[in-house]
Amino acid sequence: MKETLLQAVESNLSRPWYRLRFSPAVEARFEADTSARRSRHLLIAGIVALVIYCLFIFNDYVIRPESLHTAAWIRFGLMTPLGIVALYCVHRGLPPAMREATMSATMIVAMMLSNVIFVLSTSPYSFLDTFSFGLILVVGNIVFSLRFGFALATSLLCGVIMAAFVVPYDAIESPVKINTFVVFTSSAIFTLVANYRLEASERQSYLLLLREKLKTKAALKDNQTLTKMSATDPLTGVANRRHFDSALAQRWNEAITEQTMLGMLVIDIDCFKNYNDRYGHLPGDECLRRVATDMQNHIRQEIDLIVRYGGEEFLVLMPNASPASAKLAAERIRQGIQALAIPNQGASHSPVITVSIGVAVLRPSATQAASTLLKRADEALYQAKRTGRNRSVLASLQDGPLPA
Ligand code: GH3
Ligand code: MG
Ligand code: MG
Repeated sequence: MKETLLQAVESNLSRPWYRLRFSPAVEARFEADTSARRSRHLLIAGIVALVIYCLFIFNDYVIRPESLHTAAWIRFGLMTPLGIVALYCVHRGLPPAMREATMSATMIVAMMLSNVIFVLSTSPYSFLDTFSFGLILVVGNIVFSLRFGFALATSLLCGVIMAAFVVPYDAIESPVKINTFVVFTSSAIFTLVANYRLEASERQSYLLLLREKLKTKAALKDNQTLTKMSATDPLTGVANRRHFDSALAQRWNEAITEQTMLGMLVIDIDCFKNYNDRYGHLPGDECLRRVATDMQNHIRQEIDLIVRYGGEEFLVLMPNASPASAKLAAERIRQGIQALAIPNQGASHSPVITVSIGVAVLRPSATQAASTLLKRADEALYQAKRTGRNRSVLASLQDGPLPA
């Protein structure tokens, strides 16, 4: 059986501690849920980092005034446009790996250009900059929070670039060079540990939140299914009596407020005991299902409510009905069921299954009980049975017994 997302989330929650990435399905969901936020974060953090990189021109002014021009070109003419292009691409939206690679590339270029600025200067203080190269790692590993694999690769590459410039640099003694590498390596280790922990906790929080969201959704769905089940007749799939009681009260009140009429049909299958006795209980059930299904074709969808009231008796509740429209609906239903031509050999009045229908339409008022409508429709049904079955009878609008 296919694993559900919730099951996948559960198994990801118990994955080994050293594995940051999720299984493919959860990773895809993680990216879908977080990529917009991450791109926005990278854009803002990138702008701040770029501005600070440019502000280091003041540092150049103090440390290497003789090559200020070169430094300005590198900072404003190279790094700034490259950074803007990279941030624009990230902002437009890139696949996850491309997004991380783009940000990693900007870190590597920044490292490269910072080294170029330092070696091109003849100032005796120029080397001092190498002690601040750890800041580039702070930006990549903590401010950008590059995904750990990218952070590790970027840090290593930055170290290699720095070594390529610093090792052959003649103006400085070896102990100072070693010192700058110790500072850089320590910064790399500290920032990578922080980077790993940031990503691990971001991913863990995401999983826990997603699990809660999925559980709530599943519970809501179960609840809806239960609510629907508790309102439905299991044999025929139409509404059951419990649902009818609340629907009648609701429609009755609405009709009072809106001053409209409320109609009711009571539909009873004729000589159904004969059908059951002759063909058996299971075919009887099937007959009930067919009758209920056919009724749906003759009512106003989403407006009228069909209910199995009990045994072989159904109701149709018709908001905003007139006596004429309710009687017409009753006739459509009666003729439709007769047209099903379900044999009912031995029935006293017809060789096929038929129904008798009592129809009542009222203008509800606060002084009347809602049960009046059902009572009057029931009386009309009694008339239909008494006068030969397979017919519909409309209860008179006045109170009192129906004419015989
Ligand atoms: P009338 O025309 O006067 O309504 O006669 P009738 O035989 O339909 O009425 P009666 O009340 O005498 O019998 C109803 C029968 O409906 C009794 C029972 O066998 C059958 N019945 C009630 N509920 C079910 C059900 O859920 N399944 C099946 N198969 N039969 C049912
Ligand atoms: Mg009956
Ligand atoms: Mg009956």
